[in-house]
Amino acid sequence: MGSVIRSLHHVTATVNEAQADLDFYVQLLGLRLVKKTVNFDNHHVFHFYYGNEQGTPGTIMTTFPYHGHGVPIGRIGAGQVTVTSFSVPADSIGAWRERLAAHQVSFTEGARFGEPFLSFVDPSGLMIELIGAADARAPWTGGSVDATLAIRGIHSVTLAIQTPARTLDLLQGPLGFTLSRTEGLRRRLTVGAGGGGHQVDILESPGLHAGWNGLGTVHHVAFAIGTGEEQLAMREELRHAGLHVTEVRDRQYFTSIYFREPGGVLYEIATLPPGFTVDEELKALGTGLKLPHWEEPHRALIEKGLPPIILP
Ligand code: ZN
Repeated sequence: MGSVIRSLHHVTATVNEAQADLDFYVQLLGLRLVKKTVNFDNHHVFHFYYGNEQGTPGTIMTTFPYHGHGVPIGRIGAGQVTVTSFSVPADSIGAWRERLAAHQVSFTEGARFGEPFLSFVDPSGLMIELIGAADARAPWTGGSVDATLAIRGIHSVTLAIQTPARTLDLLQGPLGFTLSRTEGLRRRLTVGAGGGGHQVDILESPGLHAGWNGLGTVHHVAFAIGTGEEQLAMREELRHAGLHVTEVRDRQYFTSIYFREPGGVLYEIATLPPGFTVDEELKALGTGLKLPHWEEPHRALIEKGLPPIILP
């Protein structure tokens, strides 16, 4: 058992306009912009990382605002992360209801596994939930909401899978998850200590249309692993299980491997180190446009090609 998944690491989505995205996640939801960089595969597109103060794995949502680059609107469906859920204090749901209404965000309400939630869409069409849950993680409180409301991190992600048997085998096999609860066609699997940031819901979705990536859809979900050595061991284990896994890629704040799981969802396994303070001080996170060293020679050109934004 050398290589183990510790928790969720991040969720990455293809989104529309940069400014609307920043305003929504920072201004409305109160997350911290922990890094402003560019898409390493297309440096004319921003890559925003939102999270808690440090950008702790399991709290991070990241977006690629592709507005103006010809990317069509995507379709949310099977083979995707269809909902990204954040945890908030259980007794803050009423305050969040008022806050969303005050910002003209329409929402629906429900309860699942005994926890209340609010469900709404972000400006690009992503499906987001705030779930009232016991979650001991320290929130970012330097933003627009105080500690009584603040998001603690990602609560869980929902994956819609038409026929989930092999998806469940992979999660419960090499990835080390355990089936914890079932409600209708939804199965909750947990890893590590369980709870916020350590859970994945597999929603069995027979007959649901296939999703395709584009604006307003999640591109991939990443799981956290301790070290680069553990990542290599996990890569071998996954290859032996018959999966096509990429080489290790340097993402500046972590290294990553990617593969598509049997239900169609793109998974990433990302290391905990080095984290977001590798190129910016903790108190200054998110303030500068940070580029990996191989892009620095092109900084002037890159800055010219990015859309204008105002940090909220
Ligand atoms: Zn990623």
